[in-house]
Amino acid sequence: MKKTISDIKISGRRVLLRVDFNVPIRDGVISDDTRLKAAIPTIDYAVSNGARVILCSHLGRPLKEEKKAKERGLPFDRERFSLRPVASHLEKLLSRNVDFLDSCRGPEVFRFVSEMSDGDVCLLENLRFEAGEESNDTSFSEELAQLCDVYVNDAFGAAHRAHASTAGIAEFATRRVSGLLMERELKFLGRLLDSPEKPYVAILGGAKVSDKIPIINSLIEKGVDRILVGGAMAYTFLKANGYTVGKSLVEDDMLEQALEIQRSASEHGVELVLPTDHQVVDSYDPLNSRKTIPIDFTNAGLVGLDIGIETVALFKEKLVGAKTILWNGPMGMFEEKPFDAGTIEVAKAVAEATALGAVSIVGGGDSVAAVNETGLQGSISHISTGGGAALEFLSGKKLPGVDALEDK
Ligand code: ADP
Ligand code: MG
Repeated sequence: MKKTISDIKISGRRVLLRVDFNVPIRDGVISDDTRLKAAIPTIDYAVSNGARVILCSHLGRPLKEEKKAKERGLPFDRERFSLRPVASHLEKLLSRNVDFLDSCRGPEVFRFVSEMSDGDVCLLENLRFEAGEESNDTSFSEELAQLCDVYVNDAFGAAHRAHASTAGIAEFATRRVSGLLMERELKFLGRLLDSPEKPYVAILGGAKVSDKIPIINSLIEKGVDRILVGGAMAYTFLKANGYTVGKSLVEDDMLEQALEIQRSASEHGVELVLPTDHQVVDSYDPLNSRKTIPIDFTNAGLVGLDIGIETVALFKEKLVGAKTILWNGPMGMFEEKPFDAGTIEVAKAVAEATALGAVSIVGGGDSVAAVNETGLQGSISHISTGGGAALEFLSGKKLPGVDALEDK
């Protein structure tokens, strides 16, 4: 267990709060403020406990983009990567003043934070304007640590990267704890690794088996009872088992690996469930040929884009009685209607199982987007903000940004 912000004294302290404010910004306007809202509880907590709150985050990849622009002889718009619009948006969300500093290091920043009063909030400029951030540079890490008495990391989504503000800083900051959002992520995801209540059912989908091998292996080792496989990833398994999958998305170089996973699953007594029907279109007439057919009826010209109703019913049945559910990867090409149907139905089934007592966790960028579209977020126990970090964590990898924090 990691220490959290509520375990230590923060009143009157300068708290450097590493957040994930990597939000989409268009013409200075934030088009999706989910990540800002997710950080509010920790900021509010720090403010109401009398801390001096120094927020810091990355936004995009300014140095890489600048280099690319230079190589192509194109102009580079640095302002696009400034966190300034975030400060004003945050002021509205917090209903309080947020000072924006147009740098994240140097004597002026140091002077500003030394003169802050209890309950003040400021936001530093994008950490990634400094090369030292991504290179995990020692002197930049030390400088960041000097800005604060307490370092708090609430950026779970960035915890899989060993950068100065997530990892390097640990060597110099005297106190290093998690924020409330990070704490919640570690609690829910940690339980899956340590002591998942059984029956434990995983639902895996998305595009590629290759992306998900570490997590599948970890699930099998951690005693998952069943793995329901949907999405394009199912076709690699189906093809490996001799089915015709037509023009569906398959990773031909992963067929042997897919069989290996099946073998390992059966050795560990894990039931691996594949789709029995799917929604397909004719690759030559995709707009007018949609139909749902059994997997065995697939011919060479068809493309599978979603699981079918029979598979939905099968997956629902396999979720009955589950006490722990992990879902990663959409069941079909959910961005294109009506191929979101399987994903929506599975979301409903997960919500129902949750109402009946299961702890349900959804992780992965696209999966979270899909669940948010269904409006069922409130009926799922935990929706991870972690994206790639959540997948690495669940694969059993140590995350540098988590390792950097003090143990309880
Ligand atoms: P996550 O981000 O949640 O980990 P992935 O990135 O692994 O999920 O997978 C999401 C992608 O998989 C989506 O873009 C979706 O369109 C695609 N996908 C799922 N099923 C299919 C399918 N049958 N054919 C093509 N693409 C699919
Ligand atoms: Mg994805």
